[in-house]
Amino acid sequence: MEKALAQAKAAGRNQEVPVGAVLVRDGRIWARGRNAMIGRNDPTAHAEMVVLRRAGRKGGNYRLGGCDLYVTLEPCLMCYSAMVQARIRRLVYAADDPRPGSFRPASTTWSRTYTITASR
Ligand SMILES: [Zn+2]
Repeated sequence: MEKALAQAKAAGRNQEVPVGAVLVRDGRIWARGRNAMIGRNDPTAHAEMVVLRRAGRKGGNYRLGGCDLYVTLEPCLMCYSAMVQARIRRLVYAADDPRPGSFRPASTTWSRTYTITASR
């Protein structure tokens, strides 16, 4: 999570909303990403999407089964859906996002670590 926070700080220095993400594969950092919507003129360039794209390109496969994603802020629905498509094994995030659009139903009190189960 420290590495994800470093990415968030870098995003903030770039005048982006400070969110960072790191993808871990086999116990090692496989890809890093941070918010880049403003700089890229891309509404989908959330930290999680950036890191998923990088990891997919690096591994030559959009499926990232067995990988864990660490992100500094609770993901939005778009990012959560992308994690399911990528077969991310586990999501860990640091801070809840109380704004509408986060993936966690408001009525639940889930922990901040999720095991993502995708259909095969
Ligand atoms: Zn998102």
